[in-house]
Amino acid sequence: MNHDPLLPFGRRDLPTGASLLNSPLLNKLTAFSERERDILRLRGLLPPRIFNMQEQAERSLIQFRRKNSALEKYIFLTTLQNRNETLFYRLLLNHIEEMMPIIYTPTVGEACLEYGSIFRQPRGLWINIRDKGRIAEVLRNWTNKDARIIVVTDGERILGLGDLGALGMGIPIGKLALYTACAGIHPYYCLPICLDVGTDNEKLLSDPLYIGLQQKRVRGAAYEEFIEEFMQAMKEVFPKALVQFEDFGNNNAFSLLHKYQNKACCFNDDIQGTAAVALAGLISATRLTGKPLKEQTLLFFGAGEAGTGIGEYFVSALREEGVSETDARKRCWFVDSKGLLVKNRGDKLSAHKQAFAQDGKYVKTFAEAVEQIKPTAIIGVAGVGPTFTKDILEKMAAYNERPIIFALSNPTSKAECTAEEAYLATKGKAVFASGSPFAPVEYNGKTFVPGQGNNVYIFPGVGLGALASQSATVTDSMFLAAARTLAAQVNEDDLAHGRIYPHLNSIRSISIQIAAAVAEEAYDKGLARRERPKDLVADIKSQVFEPVYQDYL
Ligand code: NAD
Repeated sequence: MNHDPLLPFGRRDLPTGASLLNSPLLNKLTAFSERERDILRLRGLLPPRIFNMQEQAERSLIQFRRKNSALEKYIFLTTLQNRNETLFYRLLLNHIEEMMPIIYTPTVGEACLEYGSIFRQPRGLWINIRDKGRIAEVLRNWTNKDARIIVVTDGERILGLGDLGALGMGIPIGKLALYTACAGIHPYYCLPICLDVGTDNEKLLSDPLYIGLQQKRVRGAAYEEFIEEFMQAMKEVFPKALVQFEDFGNNNAFSLLHKYQNKACCFNDDIQGTAAVALAGLISATRLTGKPLKEQTLLFFGAGEAGTGIGEYFVSALREEGVSETDARKRCWFVDSKGLLVKNRGDKLSAHKQAFAQDGKYVKTFAEAVEQIKPTAIIGVAGVGPTFTKDILEKMAAYNERPIIFALSNPTSKAECTAEEAYLATKGKAVFASGSPFAPVEYNGKTFVPGQGNNVYIFPGVGLGALASQSATVTDSMFLAAARTLAAQVNEDDLAHGRIYPHLNSIRSISIQIAAAVAEEAYDKGLARRERPKDLVADIKSQVFEPVYQDYL
């Protein structure tokens, strides 16, 4: 990689005048110097006073905070991103805790729902099923010729919000902004893609402002051929790119991952990223509960991409600690929409669920399952809203000295319980983490800081490590290494406040540590396509993008 902001242009063919002001990667707005204004034909196009980036960031922050709703803040930030990316990333990095919930969960969910009505300017590539047969040609229309990180969705399962079709584009855009903010991947290398194969969302199909194809979702062989052509075209047009699958429907997510995991540089964040961040949380939680991972019994509410993905990584982690696969699986229980996942349940189980079907008595509800299994941890990943009732939380506190309560469903309205409910019902004993952020909670004179099991702790670092080593594939062992590296970054002060993830302010250094661990795996397993540098961390640090202005002359 290279972090020269002039990358796409070269100094000689730098655009000038209004074209320069319309190039978000190059635009400095009022920060262009007198000389740049003369030579780059900007004189008169900008007000006379020159401001530095710090001053511009202060002004932008005032404008941001003046917006009354989260959605308006989102619109403000995306508009800034489309005007001046360097300033956008400076602002984001300076205020990451405040702005992350705006550019990503929970606000991005709201933004996707409203995408048709707030749509102003296209960003990313829209490839629809009618482009079949010429996907490579569409990819070549992308302005940047060397995309290295591609986040792609087909919009079928956006966060916990269901099928949003083409409105799902907000997700790849948001995730890629996090790649740059959190791991320093140059925005030039980032490409968001929305695959539009139609939607089964009736509300969208009848919405006159809907921006996607107004047809039912294409499924089966035609869908698979479309994806196959897309993956082939990616290899041809962007041979150095990593593809991150994002928010695909349950069955497609698993089948695409299995199909491409070993033959392309790709991963699925909803399955692998979620699994790694939750595993890191469980590893940190053991430092508070005093019970090692191999003595934990997990009960999941929801057996989809997130739940079974976490289960699989938990099993892998126990195997690394010497537990047999059979014994490790016995420690993972699931409740899905049909009740407790047991072998004699009578319905046909999909492959990802079969691996976790237990020999046990069937019960229908989650509350009954809690009573029967008496787990050490409950993990909510069903996306159906408040289900960890006061009664369930009290029972968890009765069974465990320090019960682990993860309410991971997004957005906030879909969380299984709030942080406050968890701490209050367990009298401050809960080790709590959530998918969407919750404010600290005061209980009995103590402040509890809920951890956010945000995938942003994992995927940017994994992507950076895979790119830095030019790994041919992205393996599960890389995600396990990332989880252990993340857990190791949690310090005693974090734990003293009940926080099982490190502070987001240090996300860049966390991502670099994770990238080094991932790259190490790539070198160890012979997957790297780049010579190993002597000092991996120093090498990765030297490649990251810093949002600072360059002198163009
Ligand atoms: P999914 O659609 O793959 O799985 C949902 C699962 O929930 C399915 O097994 C389904 O059977 C089950 N379910 C649905 N309704 C139910 C009910 N009433 N009772 C019991 N089970 C029910 O979705 P997913 O990708 O696994 O995501 C699930 C949730 O997890 C979403 O809200 C998502 O936002 C959240 N998530 C959080 C994180 C994070 O915190 N880092 C990461 C990924 C996903």
